[in-house]
Order: sequence, then structure tokens, then C-alpha cells
Amino acid sequence: MNIVTAHTKGKVYITGAGPGDINLLTLRAKAVVELADVILYDNLINPAILDWAKPGAEKIFVGKLPYCSVITQETIHLWLLDHARTGKQVVRLKGGDPLLFGRGGEEAVFLRENQIDFEIVPGVTSSLAAGSYAGIPLTHRDDAQMLLFVTGHTKRSNKTGLDFDWPMLAAFSGTIVFYMGVRNLDQIAARLIDAGRSADSLIAVVENASLPQQKTVTGTLRNIAAKVLAEEIGTPALIIVGEVVKYHQQINWFSAIQEQLKQQIA
Ligand code: SAH
Repeated sequence: MNIVTAHTKGKVYITGAGPGDINLLTLRAKAVVELADVILYDNLINPAILDWAKPGAEKIFVGKLPYCSVITQETIHLWLLDHARTGKQVVRLKGGDPLLFGRGGEEAVFLRENQIDFEIVPGVTSSLAAGSYAGIPLTHRDDAQMLLFVTGHTKRSNKTGLDFDWPMLAAFSGTIVFYMGVRNLDQIAARLIDAGRSADSLIAVVENASLPQQKTVTGTLRNIAAKVLAEEIGTPALIIVGEVVKYHQQINWFSAIQEQLKQQIA
């Protein structure tokens, strides 16, 4: 008698791991981590998530540390392909949301071109966590009717500077969030001022949003770079430009419990 074994089809789950706090993953993200045979994960994910993996699951770090690439995107594509082709359930775990400044779109295109099944699991993007945990509502009925997500670092920005439509950004009446921009903060503030925005416009920088070590610095376009330097803000951090920054003082709730959280993990 022939024994027919069910052939399991490999699949890739391009999954958002949220901003940092392990409680901010979706239920779907947790479920796919639990079923994974292989997890390829980035540097911005909370390592405690990997403890949810089943025994024997392979965990592979493929992170690109800021400003230096270790493993190329092409290599990641090939690894996803190789694992899926051997029938494995592969989780591609990325910080925040996988399709926001996360190259998840490129991975999905590659998988489609190679006839590999995939699913995309959204995640809480870091800017939403920064807004919530720093008490900065990214939209507000009185102060911001629009929201713009911008990358503060592009392929060419190291050589040529950020070649955005600065007059458009300077005139934008909603909130602007820059991802990956903290090292270009001087340039961003200066370009906005040059393009016509008042040097007194409010701006905030939020580092490690949602984690016990979260830091928030607020200021104006004129003084923010000096303040961020003085506070030793590093990565990962987001820049929030807009009137809504004024609410931070009033509705920031997280700093009151941060000390307690830090002691719990110490
Ligand atoms: N896909 C991710 C963004 C990846 S780009 C998302 O949806 O959030 C990496 C940038 O995200 C960092 O340079 C930083 O600007 C931002 N970032 C990610 N996690 C962060 C956090 N916990 N606090 C502040 N910024 C964060």
C-alpha cells in the first residue's frame, strides 16, 4: 500500500512586528510566528517575539543596521525563496508595518514573480506608536487635517542631500512624520526654514517609541538639532513636524509609568 504524504506548500508571511512593545503585535502576527518553521527577522523587532516560535524553528537575523548594509535585499529574497520551495512556513518579520518604509512591497513582488504563496500581515507602524506614547495626536480637528509620512533618508541623500519638494513640505498644513531622518535632522529643519516655514514651528523627536527607554524631545525648527544633541537621541527615532506637538505636554501619559517599567526589567 502506498502511503501518500500530504505535500505541504511553502508560504511566506510578510509580517509587521509593531513598534517595539511586544503587546502591540496583532493576533495574526503572533499566530504566524507560532506556526513558523523559519523566521527571518530585522534588527528593529523586539527579540522577545522570537520566544513565541515553536521548538526547532529556525531564526535568522537579516537586519540591516542603520547606514550599513550587512545582508543584501537580493540575498533575503533568495533565502525566502529557498525556504518556501522546500515547503516551509516562512515568517518575514519586520519592524512596524511591513509595507511602510520596510521593503515588504519589493519582497511581495519578488515572491509573486516566483509563484510563491504569501500573506501580508499589517503592523502598528512606529509613527502611530510615537503619537500615542508621546501624547502627540497626529491629526486633530483643530490643528491637523492631513498627515504625511516621509522618509528622511533616501538612496541618494548621503551624496546629494534630500531632494524633496521642500516648498510643498514647508507649506503643508497637516502633520509631517519623517522616518529614518534623525541623522538628517539639521538638514530637514534648515530646508523647511529655507523653503518658507517659520523657524518657530513646532517639532518633536521620539526615540524608541513604546519601549521603556522611550525619549521625547520637543522644540522648534530653530533649536531642535541642538536639543537632540544635548539629550543624546539616537536611533530608532521619528521626527514629527506640526502644531499637534503642542499637545505633548498636556497628554503625554507614558513618561509617568516609564520609570516603573524600567525597574521591572532591571
Ligand atoms: N516599517 C517600519 C519603519 C521601518 S524604517 C514602521 O512601520 O515603523 C526604520 C525607521 O522607523 C527608523 O529609522 C525610525 O525612524 C522608525 N522607527 C522604527 N521603530 C521605531 C521606534 N520604536 N521608535 C521610533 N522610531 C522608530
